[in-house]
Amino acid sequence: HLKSRVTVVGSGNWGSVAAKLIASNTLKLNSFHDEVSMWVYEEILPNGEKLSQVINRSNENVKYLPGIKLGKNVIANPDLENAVKDANFLIFVTPHQFMEGICKRLVGKIRSDAEAISLTKGMEVKREGPCMISTLISEQLGINCCVLMGANIANEIAVEKFSEATVGYRKNKEIAEKWVQLFNTSYFNVSAVQDVEGVELCGTLKNVVAIAAGFVDGLDMGNNTKAAIMRIGLREMKALSKLLFPSVKDSTFFESCGVADLITTCLGGRNRKCAEAFARNGGKRSFDELEAEMLQGQKLQGVSTAKEVYEVLRHRKWLELFPLFTTVHEICIGRLPPAAILTYSENSPKCP
Ligand code: NAD
Ligand code: 13P
Repeated sequence: HLKSRVTVVGSGNWGSVAAKLIASNTLKLNSFHDEVSMWVYEEILPNGEKLSQVINRSNENVKYLPGIKLGKNVIANPDLENAVKDANFLIFVTPHQFMEGICKRLVGKIRSDAEAISLTKGMEVKREGPCMISTLISEQLGINCCVLMGANIANEIAVEKFSEATVGYRKNKEIAEKWVQLFNTSYFNVSAVQDVEGVELCGTLKNVVAIAAGFVDGLDMGNNTKAAIMRIGLREMKALSKLLFPSVKDSTFFESCGVADLITTCLGGRNRKCAEAFARNGGKRSFDELEAEMLQGQKLQGVSTAKEVYEVLRHRKWLELFPLFTTVHEICIGRLPPAAILTYSENSPKCP
């Protein structure tokens, strides 16, 4: 009876925490090899050392998750093809803008019977329409792909504060249960729902609402206004998800991946933080500049997702139905001032 091998593709802030969670479980589960391989996009640290070498020596991702031991059985590997070739279970967790390039490199390089899960929040927009990251993985690599999303600010899970998460699966409940087994811990409570698109769209679209919430904070508009923006945003999340995929279930919005992730990201996320700074500067400093200055190499997903959502809405002639999503993008590109977040979202026609 052969044991399964697990590889985490990505080693940013959340990728590193995901590796830590999984590594604590592979030690306990007989059906998995103890060792968890983690692909590291190699970089040279200011002291001249390679990040992957420092991770393997210190057992810490000193750049993206400093101060946290990952578990001795997490092995950093800067060689992508080598890291994935024997894996039975693949966890994809890089910022969404890098996923297409990574998938292209992996064609023909993975086991044909591998199972995948995406923790990446975001989408790609093709001429044919939006392409969710799990679909990209599944279509490019010819493998099944689940998703895991939730109210999961990585730094809090890293210090083992309690949170919940949602696995979305398409057909195979047994595989979803395997993923629950790999991620679930006493402080990370995972449940599975049969709605992969709903779960992934929740995780993706809430990042646009978080940008709006950050604008509200930067303009000192207060808690009631922020709650109103969150409510309008949640309604647009649900309406767009259902227009794109009629199979999306209402109940998914009440899982951790839905309202809970929306709340935590609008309170404590990176998208919120940078959008607050953007509004405080009156939109005069770009998001690229603020991201580089405030996040030390970590990446925002909300600004590019707002653009991607805008493309979808424009193409389908749905812009007026989604005033909040539309306005967030127009503020991000400087077409509207940050204060437009309120006037435009509340006065425009409502989404279905
Ligand atoms: P991060 O933003 O902390 O780090 C950026 C990562 O991108 C680094 O690992 C860096 O090495 C890598 N990178 C930079 N250039 C690259 C390139 N050209 N090719 C490939 N990789 C490159 O990453 P993260 O927080 O792990 O985020 C990954 C995904 O997880 C995102 O979609 C995010 O929305 C999602 N997520 C994050 C959190 C969180 O709290 N951090 C929580 C839940 C979900
Ligand atoms: P940020 O990328 O805005 O930090 O959001 C993290 C997240 O997705 C929490 O679940």
